[in-house]
Amino acid sequence: MQVEHYYYIKFDEQLYSKLIDEGIEVKVDSDPHYIAMFGKKMAFNIYESIGEKSCLLDELLAKFGDGLTDYVFSKRELVEAKWLLFRSTNMKLDPLSEKTIEYSCPKSEFSYYHTKQVAPYAFKPIKWKSNNHFYSALGSYYTDIFCDDYAKELLEKENFNGLSFEEVLWANKNIPLPNSHQLVFNNILPINSVLNLHNTVPINCPLCKKTKYNFDGNLLYRIEVDSSYLDDSYDFYKTGNDFTNGLCDFPFLICSQRVYSFLTSMNLTRNLCFEPLIVK
Ligand SMILES: [Zn+2]
Repeated sequence: MQVEHYYYIKFDEQLYSKLIDEGIEVKVDSDPHYIAMFGKKMAFNIYESIGEKSCLLDELLAKFGDGLTDYVFSKRELVEAKWLLFRSTNMKLDPLSEKTIEYSCPKSEFSYYHTKQVAPYAFKPIKWKSNNHFYSALGSYYTDIFCDDYAKELLEKENFNGLSFEEVLWANKNIPLPNSHQLVFNNILPINSVLNLHNTVPINCPLCKKTKYNFDGNLLYRIEVDSSYLDDSYDFYKTGNDFTNGLCDFPFLICSQRVYSFLTSMNLTRNLCFEPLIVK
């Protein structure tokens, strides 16, 4: 596992040379209009291996902070994980029904209101491609995931435990939208199965007392799950809609290695990303 740091910072000749010497690819702004407006900047990724010291990275962290961070896992780490977190990477679909999501508690107080799906999603007809079988919906933070007939049939044949499908509506027509399905995960882990809530900031709703767990600003937050809550005979779990990045509420989605191996072997992972789940 490595941590990727992405920086987009003011161009600095000396730092640029250092990065190039270290073999790091640097993109420098070249559009004169853009440079006139915002100044010349450069963008690069640098990878942090846990336990390895890098003077250059230390210098960057001290001067510019963490940058935009994410984990990068090796194929081996993904294949060896018994359970994985997954989500969509493509929020292409525009939800067109006001009835889909119910909001509770005052919607004006953004950090306190709660969302719950209470009716099917409605979309315009979806253009699936031969290598794109999954998309998610805008506003769902990549966790309301939809697929076409092709992916649904393949997944159903495998009899994955904990997955079902719900119909999607054709916006403004109120009939099922052909070739489009929502993936539904029925096994919901209780919040006390998550062992590292102390690394989040709890937000207690003053009206209903429900707690949401905010990890805004900590892009490296990963849930750790108590192993006694995970049953080997299941393939899918999710947490409740109890987490927030400060913008919207969402659950964490979990799948078994059997699901990951199947999707990989069938070339069905486009628009999905996976990381090993920490189980304790
Ligand atoms: Zn509330």
